[in-house]
Amino acid sequence: MTPDILAPLRAPIATLPGIGPRFSALLAKLAGGDTVRDLLFHLPTDFLDRRHITTIAAAQPGAIATLRIDVIRHERPEKKSHPTRVVIGDSSGFAEIILFHPGRLPQFPAGAKLLISGKLDTFADRKTMPHPDFVLPITAEKNFPFIEPIWPLTAGIVPRIFRRAALAALALLPTLPEWHDPSILKSRAWPGFSESFHLLHAPSDKIPDDKPAERLAYDELLARQIAFAVARSIRRKRPGTSLTGDGRLRKSALQKFGFSLTTSQLQALREIDSDLAAPQKMLRLLQGDVGSGKTIIALLAMLRAVESGAQAALLAPTEILAKQHLSLIQKLSPVPVAFLSGNIKGKARTKILEGLATGTIPLLVGTHAIFQSHVNFQNLALAVIDEQHRFGVDQRLAFAAKGEKTDLLVMTATPIPRSLLLTHWGEMDISRITEKPAGRKPITTTMHKLSDLEKVFAAIARAISKGGRIYWVCPLVTESEFLDATAAELRFATLREKFGDIVTLAHGQMDPSLRDQSLKNFQSGSAKILVATTVIEVGVDVPEANVMVIEHAERFGLAQLHQLRGRVGRGSSASFCLLLHDDKLSATTKKRLSFLKQTEDGFLIADEDFRTRGPGDYLGTKQSGLPGYRLADPEKHDDLLHMARKDAILTLQRDPKLDSPRGQALRILLNLFDQREALTTVKSG
Ligand code: ADP
Ligand code: MG
Repeated sequence: MTPDILAPLRAPIATLPGIGPRFSALLAKLAGGDTVRDLLFHLPTDFLDRRHITTIAAAQPGAIATLRIDVIRHERPEKKSHPTRVVIGDSSGFAEIILFHPGRLPQFPAGAKLLISGKLDTFADRKTMPHPDFVLPITAEKNFPFIEPIWPLTAGIVPRIFRRAALAALALLPTLPEWHDPSILKSRAWPGFSESFHLLHAPSDKIPDDKPAERLAYDELLARQIAFAVARSIRRKRPGTSLTGDGRLRKSALQKFGFSLTTSQLQALREIDSDLAAPQKMLRLLQGDVGSGKTIIALLAMLRAVESGAQAALLAPTEILAKQHLSLIQKLSPVPVAFLSGNIKGKARTKILEGLATGTIPLLVGTHAIFQSHVNFQNLALAVIDEQHRFGVDQRLAFAAKGEKTDLLVMTATPIPRSLLLTHWGEMDISRITEKPAGRKPITTTMHKLSDLEKVFAAIARAISKGGRIYWVCPLVTESEFLDATAAELRFATLREKFGDIVTLAHGQMDPSLRDQSLKNFQSGSAKILVATTVIEVGVDVPEANVMVIEHAERFGLAQLHQLRGRVGRGSSASFCLLLHDDKLSATTKKRLSFLKQTEDGFLIADEDFRTRGPGDYLGTKQSGLPGYRLADPEKHDDLLHMARKDAILTLQRDPKLDSPRGQALRILLNLFDQREALTTVKSG
């Protein structure tokens, strides 16, 4: 057992000299953790330059001044409520230090020669400095923080206190072996790990450049990417089933489908096939924009499982979406397919459960009812999960645990930006469908003020007269599904008045059978306008629909608007998306919405969304419990992220047990960033 070199960093903040229980509690809250390490991870965001030493005569009121002065005398106030004044001088003139707390007076003994720094003011023609930020005897000038780090602080913690804590923490910082490849360090000109903290928390003679922060960000990214790489290699070692087939079932399904697959559908299918054929467990994310044709790929993968004598299941987050998949699969599948959801009860349910357990039902489509413990498969070889980001991390893990050897294919229409994929789904392999099926026409996107509703109604009437079908999406008003539904009900009422019973309604608060009926009517064309909340966001496939109206578009994220827009433009007629917005829009919102007019590329839109709204809002990553980053900003450090991923993969290829000298150092890094799981795995692997 080597002595724990990181022990000093795991010590509680409260053990730092000069930091009592009250401050340590506040500091822990501020730093997001109660150890010395957490405190060090709380990096300054800016620096104040106090290097320019000036004279009283030359110093500018309103600015920070650093002065070498003599203390001349103290002037005690006549009234207790007035401040104490300390008259100071240098060769150029006189000024006054103003002290509202006389407790600081001993810092300014009469006759002392001091170096002081603080904001200069004027009061009644005199230059004054209320409560200097720093005061040191001139003899101790070398300890003066000429470059002052600006830390994000909280009530109760002033810079002086944070600095005291940070300096105490720096004193404990051990010298750690370097874990980075020397060539990376050299080409990036990065300082060492400990040195980086010194440079940032206690810069001596120059304002730090980006290097130390960049290096620390890379440390964090690399630790996470190594953990992902370890997870991937473990998964690869775990035995799966080798699924191959004669292609008979696939061929029949493709014949009925009638279209040829796009190049990227074929590419994705090849990648999936090679995973299925390999004797290891598959964990693959299939990413494809709305309308790119993921369902057919899922079906073909499922049929491969059946061809090799096993079962496959497809899971969607809602009943509507599950039914949507079911309808295509039923149409194309040469083998029986069953449907399971919470609404399937009694005898029907028993029959399905029996068929699954005995293997007479080879294909299953459903909601998460599929994964309840009493649902047993004879041999589930492949599970496909649609719109996986809607499921929480725990659910994801539960799916993965369902079959010891079950291959997992997760699908998402959300064009998750590459950096988010790598930061949060780094343990998965990724396939992307990057093109739409041939023959799709561009969607014309326009913006309209809500006060122009009459014009919108007229446009809709024209579209209907030409045989069009219209989605009308009502906004997310509140967090409450009920209130959103009410807004949809109201809009439904006004449209009914205008257009009669060709208008139908679907929202989350409706009786599911009524809602399904409503969707069916829209699908069949007996209804021409479907008023809906975002229940139609994903999955619904009505090729004849060619107009998408989105009310209060400004309340949606770009990625979400893009998803909604993707509901149209699937058929042969020209399609339109009308973004209705508040009459008053800020310039940035207008610009954000206009972005949709420029492009239909979901990845571009996702990146823009990510850029303008940040990852916090994106996919609700916070709620899903994805671990955040302390030192890295996956968006800002995109290049580092890719570098870290490559670095991690290469490192583990060369040194899978991390026992080379660099590997040993990397273990310290994993420890430092709490990647203990990966560490244990590497040790025992
Ligand atoms: P999504 O990726 O959004 O789930 P779907 O699987 O629902 O997309 O496919 C959208 C529509 O495109 C469906 O009507 C589907 O049948 C059709 N489609 C899929 N692939 C092709 C193709 N290669 N050629 C023509 N149409 C296709
Ligand atoms: Mg879909």
